[in-house]
Amino acid sequence: MISQDLLTKKRKNRGRAKGSKGHAELVQCDGCGGWVPRDKAIRVTRTTSPVDPQLARELIKRGTTILKTTVVKNYCVRCAVYMGIRSQRSRDDRKREFY
Ligand SMILES: [Zn+2]
Repeated sequence: MISQDLLTKKRKNRGRAKGSKGHAELVQCDGCGGWVPRDKAIRVTRTTSPVDPQLARELIKRGTTILKTTVVKNYCVRCAVYMGIRSQRSRDDRKREFY
């Protein structure tokens, strides 16, 4: 049997954050609805305003406070690349885990 270390590895963490853990629970991608492992999914947190930005500017000027809500979304790698959240990286860039 060939050791894992001898095989070609594209990424240090194999594109996941699982480590030696055997299994990671699945989450649903908010882009395509596909199921992805939680450690592989790309998690994006954004603050959204329920009011139209133009109207919000007007309301703030008049002293209104508009509460912002945070939205957490999970994306699969394919959807994250498509939406421009992640992009392809060169061989050297891939060695960095975070960017
Ligand atoms: Zn997706």
